[in-house]
Formats: sequence, C-alpha cells, structure tokens
Amino acid sequence: MTSRSFPSAFRTRATPVAAPGWYWVVPRVALLLFLAAIAALVWLLHSTDQEDQRAALISDVLWMEQDLRFHLDRNAELIGQLGREAAEKSFDAAALELRARSLVSNGQGLLSVERLLAIDPADDALAAPARLADRIGQAVYLPPRALQDGEVQFDVLVPLGASRGWMRGRYSLSQMLVRSVPWWFAERYAVEVIDNTERVLASKSKVSSGNSDLGYSVAFDPPGHGLRLRVAAYRSETRLLPALLVVTLVGLALTMLWSLWALRRHLNRRLAAEHALREEHAFRTAMENSLIIGLRARDLEGRITHVNPAFCRMVGWSAEELMAMRPPMPYWAPEHAEHIRALHDGILAGNAEKRDAIELTFMRRDGERFDVLISEAPLVDAEGRHVGWMSSVLDVTESKQAEALYRQQQEQLQFTGRLITMGEMASTLAHELNQPLSAISSYSTACLNMIETGHGHLSDFREPLSKMNTQARRAGTIIRRVHEFVRRSEPQRVRCTLNDIVDDAVALIEADARKRNIHITTSRAPDLADVLADRVMIEQVLLNLIRNGMDAMAGSSAEKRRLQIDTRADGEDVQVAVRDSGAGIPPDIAEKLFAPFFTTKPDGMGMGLNICRSIVELHHGRLWFEAADGGGTVFILKLPAADAEALST
Ligand code: ADP
Repeated sequence: MTSRSFPSAFRTRATPVAAPGWYWVVPRVALLLFLAAIAALVWLLHSTDQEDQRAALISDVLWMEQDLRFHLDRNAELIGQLGREAAEKSFDAAALELRARSLVSNGQGLLSVERLLAIDPADDALAAPARLADRIGQAVYLPPRALQDGEVQFDVLVPLGASRGWMRGRYSLSQMLVRSVPWWFAERYAVEVIDNTERVLASKSKVSSGNSDLGYSVAFDPPGHGLRLRVAAYRSETRLLPALLVVTLVGLALTMLWSLWALRRHLNRRLAAEHALREEHAFRTAMENSLIIGLRARDLEGRITHVNPAFCRMVGWSAEELMAMRPPMPYWAPEHAEHIRALHDGILAGNAEKRDAIELTFMRRDGERFDVLISEAPLVDAEGRHVGWMSSVLDVTESKQAEALYRQQQEQLQFTGRLITMGEMASTLAHELNQPLSAISSYSTACLNMIETGHGHLSDFREPLSKMNTQARRAGTIIRRVHEFVRRSEPQRVRCTLNDIVDDAVALIEADARKRNIHITTSRAPDLADVLADRVMIEQVLLNLIRNGMDAMAGSSAEKRRLQIDTRADGEDVQVAVRDSGAGIPPDIAEKLFAPFFTTKPDGMGMGLNICRSIVELHHGRLWFEAADGGGTVFILKLPAADAEALST
C-alpha cells in the first residue's frame, strides 16, 4: 500500500527524507563566517578608534612641542633684546632688574634673567656655550641640572655681540610645563619631560597616566641635550556611538545565535516527532496489512480514499482501481444494488453512528457472491473535522455457512434423538394409553353387563358411552401429539393455565395411583398467570414426573406414600412442584439424572427426564430438582408467564 491511498488529512511520509551532506554544513559555515565578520567589524571599529585617538594625540603633541619652542624662541629673542637695550642705553642694575622681572612674569617658566658681562674661561659649564653662542650669534641652551629638591632647571645664553657680554635666562622645567601646557591639554594627557635615560625630569599630569598604551614622545629641542617631551593619553573614555554600535552588533549576533539555537531545537523536536510518526505509520500499516478484516475509508462524497489489502483481496479489485471508482460500486451485487445504495446514501447522510453492524451481500470480481458484516464509524481528522467514513468489512460467508451446517447437524441430531426416543415414547404411550383404554374397557364391560342382564334403560348407556367417547378422544390426542413430535412438528402453544394441566394429569394418573396405594394431593395457586404451552406436552412432562415420584415411593411405608403437587407464581414465572417422599436421589446419580438412557430401573428407558427437559426448554422454561424436606425429592418445572414472554419476544 502506498501513502497515496491515505486521505489527505492523514497522509504522512512513508520514507524518511534523507538530508543531503551539505544540509548542516552550509548553515554552520555561514554562522562561523557571520561571527568572524562581526568580530572583524568590532576589531575594525576599535582599531579605527585607536588610530583616530593616536592621530589626535600626535597632532596635539606636535602642537605642544611647537608651542613650547615658540615660547622659548620668543623668550630668547626678548632676553637678547633686553640685553642689547641694556648695553646701548647703559641701564643701571635696578632698571635691568625691573625689565627682567616683567619678562620673567610673562616668561612661561622663566625664573630669572641676568646680564653676564664676562665669563671666566675656566668655567667649563659656561665658557664653551658662551663661545658657541658668540660664534653662531644665537641663543645656546645649557644642559639641564637637577637641584636638591628635585627641581630641574636649565639656562639659556643669549649673546649680545660686540663684547657686550651675554644674557642668561634660567628656566624651571616644571614651571615651564605648568605655565605652557594649557588646561584642556592637561585634561587629556600627561605631559612629561624625560632625559635619554628615561628619567622623568618634570611632569604635568592630573592623575597618573596608568598603563595607557597610547603615548607619543618627540625631541624637546630647544633646550635639546637629549631631552624628550613625552605625552601619554589618559585611559581613553569610551566613545558613546562606536560603543553603542559594538553593543548593538554583539547583541544582534547573540540574538541571532539564540534564535538559531531555538530553531535547531525546534527542528530536532520536529524531526523526532516525524520519526515517531513514521514508526507509528509503519506499525499501523503492518497491523492493517495483517488484518483479515477489510478496511475502507470514504470521503463525504462517497469516494473511496483508502482500502487495505484485505478489502482488495475480498472484492478482487486493486486499491488504485477502487479509488478511481464512483458509486455504484462494482462489488455491489446487482440484485442487492438498490438496497446497498439506500444504505450507502443513509451513511453519507450521517446515519452510521446510530446503526449497528449491517449484513450485506457483495460480489467478487469473478461474480461470486459473499456475505459481509459492515460497521461504519465517522472519520475525523487531526483538526477534529469530519472528513468521511471508515468501515470495517468482515467476510462472514464461511461463518454463515458453518452456522447453517451446524443448524442442520443439530436438527439431524435432534431428529436422530427423537427416533431413538421413539421406542421409549412408544412404551410411554402404551402406559398412557393404558389409562383411557382400561377406562373404555371397564365402561364397555359395564354396558355389556347391562345388556346381558337386561337391566337398565337406554338412557343408562349415555354416561358410560360418553365417558368412553372422552377417553377414546384423549387416547387419539395422545397418539396424534406423539406422532407430530416424532415428525418434528413445532409444539402447539396456546394460552392455558398450569392449574388445568395439573388437573388433567392428576385425573389421568389417579387410578394408577390408587392401585399403587399412593395418595396424591394438589394445591393450586389462585389467579395463576397463563402460560403459552402445548398442553399435551406439558401434561406428559407432569405425568412423567408424577410417575417417577410414585416409582421412588414404591418401597416406602403406606403412610409415607404421599405425592404433593403445588402450583405457584414466582415473579414473572409460574411453577409447579412435584414432591415425593421417596428415598431421594444420591449425589452420584443426581449428576446423570437428565442424561439420555440413564435409568436405575430394570425396565426403565432412562429417556423420560431427558425428553421432559427438552420439552420444558422448548417452552423457554426450566426443569430441575431439589431434595425435599423430610426426605424425598421435589421436581420443579418453571415456565414464563404468557404476558412476560410475549414482551420479551
Ligand atoms: P426412567 O424413569 O425410565 O428410569 P427417567 O429419565 O424418567 O427414566 O429417570 C431416570 C432416573 O432418575 C430413574 O431411573 C431414577 O433412578 C431417577 N429418578 C427420577 N425421578 C426420581 C425421583 N422422584 N426420586 C428418585 N429418583 C428418581
């Protein structure tokens, strides 16, 4: 069977869809590339930011260096100018001092300015620079020197020329930094002056530059002598926009990763569910294929949407052929087509739920008829919609045949059984007929006596003759019923009361009982419900029970020879009990009592009770026995009341 034969709402994949090799590789590679791209982007943003900061730093440092140089050059010029003026205008010391102080106050770290008229040639620290200054005609800076308090100072010698001496300006490095480095520069950077051994000679910093990796140094010349200006950026503040960008990118990447993970989990669950579904489908298919019951699904228009192999085998058409067909279906036997059509339309109209299984005759492809038992159920899809009907189709031909055969055999068996019992019946008959015949005989003897003696009138013959007539009729009825029974005719059930049947039976057997010295008493329940019974048959049952009772009391003492017959109502049933005071029935015998041919009597047939029970069962009643109080046995015959039975049938 293929999945094509499933109704659309139930269609599932029969075979797993194998994922190609690259199925998982591509998204994984793409994911890795995406993460790499994000990392590269973040790194690029960071490094661009660093570059920018570095470029800004370098340009700031160069500006700073130029600014310092500009101040130093300008100061040298002003100092030279002051010296020359002092020489030409012969300032006295006070005037020079005044001018120098004004210079110092604006001098960006300039501590003092003084005029040197002569320099001791032995003073190495000054003589050489002075000569150099004279020779080049420009200011010469002396090496820096550290004072005891850690303060570093350096001097500048400005030649005045024409033997007018020199001017000496003295700078404090730290003062210079303090005065020259503007506040905004100090906000961003730590500025230091270092010598060529990396020793810090002066610095201006708000806080420690820490381990900032962003720094730059340039030669600090003038004053030169290996001094360097080193500027380090404070730990760069995170800039909002790039940081925001980075955070957003990382956030997006994480969101994407999470959603991919969730997607994958979902996919795995789906795959697991699909797998379970496939297994379930395979299991159901196997189960369906192993069925001998045909399964057929139809949509709401009556088209076949699914059939199982058993149904195909039954009718002889393939699933594809059946699904292409429209009603009337070819497996509807033409002689039943109209009936099947009506049922079909009824089911489609929604009557299936109210219906039990129905029996129909279908036709195989080769024309052979077969009986099926069909039960229908509504087909509901996963969303709870009614999409059609599912029917199970059971081929009951064989079981019906077997049933018919069984019935036949049973009838045969019963017939044989009846034949076997015929002999017994004959002997019973002889017994039964003995009563009327002996009555007829005695009445006829009485008549003959009257004729022979000449006594009596004609009217005296009326009574014995009418009694003879009655007895002859009874004998005739007995013979006819036995004859009918042997010919398997159905019992002639009529409405009658058990009380009447008991009376008739007792009347028949009374003479025999008297002969055996047995006293029969009856107690009839008043207003006893009628039964539907064949009077003669039930009478025969009672006669048999009475006779058995009398047989059982054959050995009892005279005062114990009492047979009690009672009738009474029992719910919807009526019953008659025949109680003897005989020897009772021992347990080993009790089991076999109703078995055919079981007897304990030398001349018995052992068929009486067996036939009695058959007759009672034929009347839907029960026959059983119990031990009677005070010894003996009570046989109870129970029949359903006529009204109750009419209701149940
Ligand atoms: P038959 O009377 O020919 O023996 P039945 O089928 O009528 O055949 O009875 C079978 C046996 O059941 C009898 O032989 C007898 O032993 C036993 N039986 C029947 N009724 C009674 C009874 N009322 N008391 C004791 N035994 C009985």
